[in-house]
Amino acid sequence: MATGRVDLDGNPIKPMTICMIGAGGFIGSHLCEKLMEEAPHKVLAVDVYNDKIKHLLEPSSQWGDRIQFHRLNIKNDSRLEGLIRMADLTINLAAICTPADYNTRPLDTIYSNFIDALPVVKYCSENSKRLIHFSTCEIYGKTIGAFLPKDSPLRQDPNCFLLKEDESPCIFGPIEKQRWSYACAKQLIERLIYAEGAENGLEFTIVRPFNWIGPRMDFIPGIDGPSEGVPRVLACFSNNLLRREPLKLVDGGQSQRTFVYIKDAIEAVLLMIENPARANGHIFNVGNPNNEVTVRQLAEMMTQVYAKVSGESSLDTPTVDVSSKEFYGEGYDDSDKRIPDMTIINRQLGWNPKTSLFDLLESTLTYQHRTYAEAVKKATSKPVAS
Ligand code: NAD
Ligand code: UDP
Repeated sequence: MATGRVDLDGNPIKPMTICMIGAGGFIGSHLCEKLMEEAPHKVLAVDVYNDKIKHLLEPSSQWGDRIQFHRLNIKNDSRLEGLIRMADLTINLAAICTPADYNTRPLDTIYSNFIDALPVVKYCSENSKRLIHFSTCEIYGKTIGAFLPKDSPLRQDPNCFLLKEDESPCIFGPIEKQRWSYACAKQLIERLIYAEGAENGLEFTIVRPFNWIGPRMDFIPGIDGPSEGVPRVLACFSNNLLRREPLKLVDGGQSQRTFVYIKDAIEAVLLMIENPARANGHIFNVGNPNNEVTVRQLAEMMTQVYAKVSGESSLDTPTVDVSSKEFYGEGYDDSDKRIPDMTIINRQLGWNPKTSLFDLLESTLTYQHRTYAEAVKKATSKPVAS
């Protein structure tokens, strides 16, 4: 497994130590798994939670000698610099990154995505350590096309909607639309990292994920997360399907997204890790331009796939419209369309996503059903106190 591995230029890959901050989250858990199963590297896994990587940490696990969990909050823990110094590469995934928080907890969102990331950048720069930082596709905000009249033929022109790392502008709404607090904080940390590269020689790579989805994403409210919590769309719709409730379409579900399977996306990250000469100094879109749907179409597809994997019939009324104000509260706004341009990642790393939306929903909803259906049934059949 670990021996004889070569990079894209045919050079042997040396085992490295990786400080992964946010390793206990959705992306972190898949990246830890991939590194344990397919690469020889060691991981210093930093997070406040470890439930999603417990299976790798158990004493009986075969990976015990290559992954070490460090429970710490990077906001206020002096051990962080030591861990970064011990590593060859730092990957920063830690963030508040659920839209329901952006307009309701804008301060926490800005602190988490900008202020808390500052020491990570500083320690990497001062100690000449490589950094892979997770940003977001949301950095592009709205497309140019969103501002054109609905019937304008220019809306069909890729120049008006295709999102390119080195050309597209970042278009956010007004300050009172606090939805953009996250995108704006991520933009500023990207600019700071880029400037550290330009002025102080920091070796960095910035990743802009475009709606990565798959098993272990977020939580099911009331089962493994707060009952009133609002996760990202995959978990919201999974929760509705598990509870046999209509899926809620925010503002009619007209926004468009491209979804990429987590396992495809993790392949791209592994290529970045093991090909520093090709990845350093670059910002990469990582998404699947072929998997575009409106949120309404996503709801319809998930309903159909869930019926197939669970064997349960669909509801007569599978969706219901809800206003964004009702669903997210004041200050919500939305990205209209997100199609990643793939030129740079293709050229530098030769990466392409493989999994169709139908296939990725089938494997993900099979996991959701297997993991949660019993627990949801138990929770919903409890007698209500009178
Ligand atoms: P996630 O919420 O599942 O994981 C983030 C992890 O960071 C969590 O386990 C959390 O406990 C940890 N964390 C947060 N603050 C911390 C702190 N102060 N100290 C220690 N740990 C802390 O989210 P994810 O989907 O895995 O996203 C990872 C990164 O990718 C984030 O930076 C996010 O902005 C970015 N991103 C993800 C997507 C996606 O499609 N999943 C899209 C755009 C951007
Ligand atoms: N959305 C929805 N119903 C839900 C949850 C989300 O219609 O129950 C919409 C949301 O308004 C957005 C899209 O789905 O247009 C994707 O939301 P997600 O939370 O995944 O985050 P985003 O892609 O906006 O970062």
